[in-house]
Amino acid sequence: MTQDTIIIGAGLSGLTVAWKLKQISGHSVLLLEQSDRAGGAISSHSENDYLAEGGPHGFLDNCVESQSLLAETGLDREVLKAPLSKFVRYVCMDKKLRLIPQSPPRILAAPLISLPAKLRVAADLFKKPLPGEPTVREWVEYRFGRALLPYVDAVFTGTYAGDIDRLVIDGVMPGIRKVEKEHGSVLRGLIKKMRASRKNAAEKKKGLPSMCSFPEGMTRLAERLQENLSSDELHLHSPVLSISRNDDSWTVATKEAVYSSRNLVLALPVNAALGLLADIASPPPPQQAIPEARIVTIALGFGSEASLPPGFGFLTPEREKRFCLGALFSSNMFPGRTPEGHILLEALVGGRRHPDRLELDDASLIRNAVEDLQQLLTLPAPPQYARVLRPRGGIPQLEKGYPELLSWRNALMEAEKGLYVTGFGWDGIGLNDMIKTACRVSDAIRDGQQDGGERDSAVKKVYF
Ligand SMILES: Cc1cc2nc3c(=O)[nH]c(=O)nc-3n(C[C@H](O)[C@H](O)[C@H](O)COP(=O)(O)OP(=O)(O)OC[C@H]3O[C@@H](n4cnc5c(N)ncnc54)[C@H](O)[C@@H]3O)c2cc1C
Repeated sequence: MTQDTIIIGAGLSGLTVAWKLKQISGHSVLLLEQSDRAGGAISSHSENDYLAEGGPHGFLDNCVESQSLLAETGLDREVLKAPLSKFVRYVCMDKKLRLIPQSPPRILAAPLISLPAKLRVAADLFKKPLPGEPTVREWVEYRFGRALLPYVDAVFTGTYAGDIDRLVIDGVMPGIRKVEKEHGSVLRGLIKKMRASRKNAAEKKKGLPSMCSFPEGMTRLAERLQENLSSDELHLHSPVLSISRNDDSWTVATKEAVYSSRNLVLALPVNAALGLLADIASPPPPQQAIPEARIVTIALGFGSEASLPPGFGFLTPEREKRFCLGALFSSNMFPGRTPEGHILLEALVGGRRHPDRLELDDASLIRNAVEDLQQLLTLPAPPQYARVLRPRGGIPQLEKGYPELLSWRNALMEAEKGLYVTGFGWDGIGLNDMIKTACRVSDAIRDGQQDGGERDSAVKKVYF
């Protein structure tokens, strides 16, 4: 039987596309997943009354598509929210945790950088757009000076587990780059945008967003989306080995079977998609694979002798030379994740700069992480609970050549009728990016349109 749509990959992207397509009356869907469970990178871990996350910890409630998905699935009645206004964050600077205000004017007013450094930030007003494909470090240094670099480093450590000497600004902040090119100065462009949006009453009311999760952890989101699929519609243990095109349909082969469909959605991390597209893509992709940053989460439970500062957690710029990239104060954010009276910290280790640390055994990772955290936090006794969570995949890194790869993907989707390529790393790396793009893909399929990728990059606000 020819399906209306085959989706490869049952992570959040594939599950969301399937959820949306199932709302179209009579539309048949088949979701093929290589592993023994749906959810992909989402992986909550429950043990000894502790609840930790091996993958994503949450998503902000500032994305319209995600909020609609929560309402459609009824998850809006279950969601837990930790408002950023209440849950402050810290950056580790000179071996101390420093509180970071969450709004740009407050960041500039705070005594985080010197007055001359603040004046240097303002020099952006007189700078021309930086040509070429600069790295994040080159671009920030050129526009705003060096003083902001440790904070920018912390942001990209927290989001990409990445390296600002390798990530390119056109890849990670296309919206800001567009503002720079359109207005000359980033500050001038952002001020204009802020003024325009303040005229809009709805925008005026928006405060800081909240971090969202669920009482059972992020796995609940994947489970709820999966509940909507029958065993005929979701096939686990079904790695797709090849895809090919025959006139108006697509053929998809697993080890066990061959399927055909009118539409084919690759809801896969960039590298997994490139592997399958190699068979059909002409011209071939400008690169065969992109780098990935792997991290481990070390969940640490402490008794009542330990205490955490208020807030969400902290991040560490590379220049601090610490073992952990940062840590989440999980029991502050989402209470109920520990036995009564205990606290839960989730330390992040590895990333683009330190893949060697992932080779350490669990005992060494735990020992090093605890020693590191004890220098910054009040942790007088050893942890009562410790578990190393090792995600299966890494975080795609949007480095040199990525903008060209994205253009190639967009051209391919326009040229190949019924082909849609979405997922981890293609149009961003966060859960909100995945949901937003999955909605765009399902809308295009519903309307019988091709998807040409995101044409109008929005400016995304940065939160520490
Ligand atoms: C450690 C970590 C922490 C993160 N933290 C956050 C966070 O706090 N907030 C946030 O917003 N985002 C976070 N992210 C990013 C977030 O997890 C991703 O945006 C999202 O989960 C990606 O979903 P996806 O479905 O596109 O890809 P994936 O989750 O990778 O799913 C792809 C699926 O495709 C399957 N697959 C691959 N190849 C094949 C094949 N050939 N045939 C069949 N199936 C195949 C895989 O098994 C997998 O199930 C984090 C990611 C990681 C790794």
